[in-house]
Amino acid sequence: MTSSRAMLENHPLAPLTTIGLGGSARYFAMCSSIEECRSAIGFARTHRLPIHILGGGSNTVFLDEGFPGVVIQVCISGLTVTTVQGGVALDVGAGEQWDDVVTSAVARGFGGIECLAGIPGTAGAAPIQNIGAYGQEVRETITRVDALELETLEERSFTNTECGFGYRTSRFKEADRGRFLITGVSFRLQPEARPALRYPELAKAVAADGPISELAPGQPALGRVRKTVMRLRRSKGMVVDHADSESRSAGSFFMNPFVSPEKFTDIQRRWTGEGNSDPIPYYQSTGGVKIPAAWLVEHAGFPRGTNRGNMGVSTKHALALVNRGGTTKELLALATEIQDAVSRLFGIFLSIEPVVVSPEL
Ligand code: NAP
Repeated sequence: MTSSRAMLENHPLAPLTTIGLGGSARYFAMCSSIEECRSAIGFARTHRLPIHILGGGSNTVFLDEGFPGVVIQVCISGLTVTTVQGGVALDVGAGEQWDDVVTSAVARGFGGIECLAGIPGTAGAAPIQNIGAYGQEVRETITRVDALELETLEERSFTNTECGFGYRTSRFKEADRGRFLITGVSFRLQPEARPALRYPELAKAVAADGPISELAPGQPALGRVRKTVMRLRRSKGMVVDHADSESRSAGSFFMNPFVSPEKFTDIQRRWTGEGNSDPIPYYQSTGGVKIPAAWLVEHAGFPRGTNRGNMGVSTKHALALVNRGGTTKELLALATEIQDAVSRLFGIFLSIEPVVVSPEL
């Protein structure tokens, strides 16, 4: 390989993920530049090996048998700020930690991503599933995504519209899955901004510390919101913290399902008809009726703290499956058990949110 760091052989993958599961990669390369990425991809192509691109490992589950190809960890760094018409442009290397990007934007008084504090993973992974929390999503502020096309090794740029963003998804997760390696992301943020407080739980928690309107726009107000988001996430075990065994997870394991209004009425009628008094929570949106997956998991017989061998449902949030010293096989068995129970009881299929890495070329 040229201009690339060493290609490591039989490299353990579990420590590279927040859930801490999986065997070894046949080859592993940490790449800090576009050239190093090109070189690692070229190595895989020459040896006809499958490639897996890894960011912060917070949304990834490797199989117990490991990965029989080349795992490329993207470590491209860099964060630059430029004043542009209508705000500031923040250009970020794909390997930057997402939470550091939020902290840096908030410290400068730039608004637009403050509610996304504490989400684990890298900046390059953020557009793939259009990360979102507390009423904010990255698609609102992303202006450009830069990538390398694996097949041609050419650099490509995508505008916001070209990214095909949807609820926790994008073209990089759907139609073009496995086709690009994201090298950088550009955002348009607002200087001296007022924070976004669209999510009732967040608005209430922020107000509990005093009226936000009394704080100056920019860092003081945005900083308060960032701090509150961190507090809320931590209380749900959703901040990666080595001292908190409940955060040994891949975050939300299931996506919130959307159903048609007719189907929702049907499900609700069946649920209450069976003598259940607690109503099914729901949110109307353009994609249909959104039902919190965590509620479905708990009401299908998997309350927080449920254990199956060395895997379990987090004691803090029913949407997180926690590794208590088990294997990927056990994790997937528990996930299937939950999916089957939710499907039987509510007629809803819960899709898995993390990427379970299979060795396809
Ligand atoms: P929650 O308040 O218990 O509500 C469960 C789900 O209902 C949320 O995932 C959220 O969907 C949806 N929801 C709640 N209020 C809503 C509203 N006013 N309008 C539209 N949808 C609403 O949520 P949670 O699971 O504790 O998470 C709170 C926020 O943090 C969410 O935005 C979530 O995405 C984010 N977050 C979730 C997790 C997780 O594991 N669930 C982890 C970290 C952060 P959305 O997910 O679409 O917002």
